[in-house]
Amino acid sequence: MTNEHAPATASLGAKDPYELRVGLGAGVPDTAVQEALASGDMGFLHSYTTGSAVDGPGVRVVAWTTGCMWRCRYCHNPDTWTLKNGIPVSVRQVLDELRKYRDDLKIMHGGFTLSGGEPLLQHRFAVKLLAEARGMGIHTTVETNGYFHDRLADAELDTIDLVMLGLKAWDPARHRDLTGLDNQPTLDFARRLARLGKPLWIRFVLVPGLTDDVDDMAGSAAFAAGLGNVERVEVLPFHQLGRYKWQRLGLEYTLNGTEPPSQAAIERACAVWRAAGLTVV
Ligand code: SF4
Repeated sequence: MTNEHAPATASLGAKDPYELRVGLGAGVPDTAVQEALASGDMGFLHSYTTGSAVDGPGVRVVAWTTGCMWRCRYCHNPDTWTLKNGIPVSVRQVLDELRKYRDDLKIMHGGFTLSGGEPLLQHRFAVKLLAEARGMGIHTTVETNGYFHDRLADAELDTIDLVMLGLKAWDPARHRDLTGLDNQPTLDFARRLARLGKPLWIRFVLVPGLTDDVDDMAGSAAFAAGLGNVERVEVLPFHQLGRYKWQRLGLEYTLNGTEPPSQAAIERACAVWRAAGLTVV
């Protein structure tokens, strides 16, 4: 793994997750990585941001993990796919940062969000962080694709106040084309959260020509509406802010010619989700 993009001294703090970060954990031996994944005492973070108003309720501190097994064609942070692109950090280090903001987060009705990448790929690390944050009285949110949900026991899901779940596509073949993997685990996770009565926000990325099929959106919407625990749906317009990362990482990007959706297309998509009886923002 090349380290050419890494700053001499990498900082956990980032203005936003669009900073390209590569090879920051390259020096960690594979045996140490396996031990970290098994114990959860250490994890890999792309960065964290403070003051986010779009990653859960209120104002939030967001920790972005590295490692993701999906390959979404519209992913705007492909540098998060590789675990060792992140900075190795201990649970204690993250909590020390979080503690600085604890009182402000409460005043601003916010909390701590663990995002990625796919945070449940480092599920032991995730559970430890979330449990400790909860112990500090901080509201916890996980943004996930849900693929590894069965790694967490129901009791461990109790460390999460809110799940933000990405529903990428309804049709299984479309989903595989879009992400490389099946959507069944994601749907199973949504049903499991419904059974547990866990609040759920759905995130849907609207990509012209890729995810904007009305019947496909209607399938996802009907599924979400039938769960009974979906508090809101966020329709996120595709953008090209992450394209440079694909280029810099030497990855084949298939959406060079794709424009962000028009306002009319966004409204059409929102209408599909609303028609199922869901609250769309
Ligand atoms: S699940 Fe998220 S991080 Fe993983 S490839 Fe898809 S958009 Fe990127």
